[in-house]
Amino acid sequence: MLLHSYRITRILPCLADPEKIRVIAEVSGEIYEAFPYLNAILKGCIYNHPALTLTIKKDGKLFTLHAHHITLAKIEDEKEAEEILGWLKNLINETHEKRDLIEPNFSMTAELKPLDIYKLLPGTSCKKCGELTCLAFAVKLVGQEIGIVKCSPLFTGEYKEKQKVLIELLQAGGYAITTPLSHPEKI
Ligand code: SF4
Repeated sequence: MLLHSYRITRILPCLADPEKIRVIAEVSGEIYEAFPYLNAILKGCIYNHPALTLTIKKDGKLFTLHAHHITLAKIEDEKEAEEILGWLKNLINETHEKRDLIEPNFSMTAELKPLDIYKLLPGTSCKKCGELTCLAFAVKLVGQEIGIVKCSPLFTGEYKEKQKVLIELLQAGGYAITTPLSHPEKI
């Protein structure tokens, strides 16, 4: 069994939906071996092989698997988080057990949507990035026409949590990230 147990270590407000929560759970051992096989059998995943992250979209929720932890976003409550973690545990273990029968997929199979990015921006449409709105910025960011560094408000303390999640999502999507040297956020 690849994943023996997990433990919820942090419960935070959801950045995309203030009425929901974001949950971080540590997992026993390393689970990244299952990622290319999960990427092969699940639709709509974003797999970043170099960074060893796999983002799964399900029922409007986002689950990001890392080597040693799992992040769940847009979750109703702790009970739902436990149910999803149980489902993920079974999925990871069953997929890993059947890995000899599955052709691993090491490619990125889904693209980020501008709306996913927009929800993690400050949302003030302050125009400091040179765009008229945050949504316009999100569209350009997805198209790699502009760098995240251009949104200077995102690198202030006020949006630190959104910044961390957005950078994590961009990295999972294989985007090159440059953060302002004056605000060297640990990511
Ligand atoms: S600088 Fe950031 S907050 Fe301001 S409009 Fe651009 S994306 Fe939105």
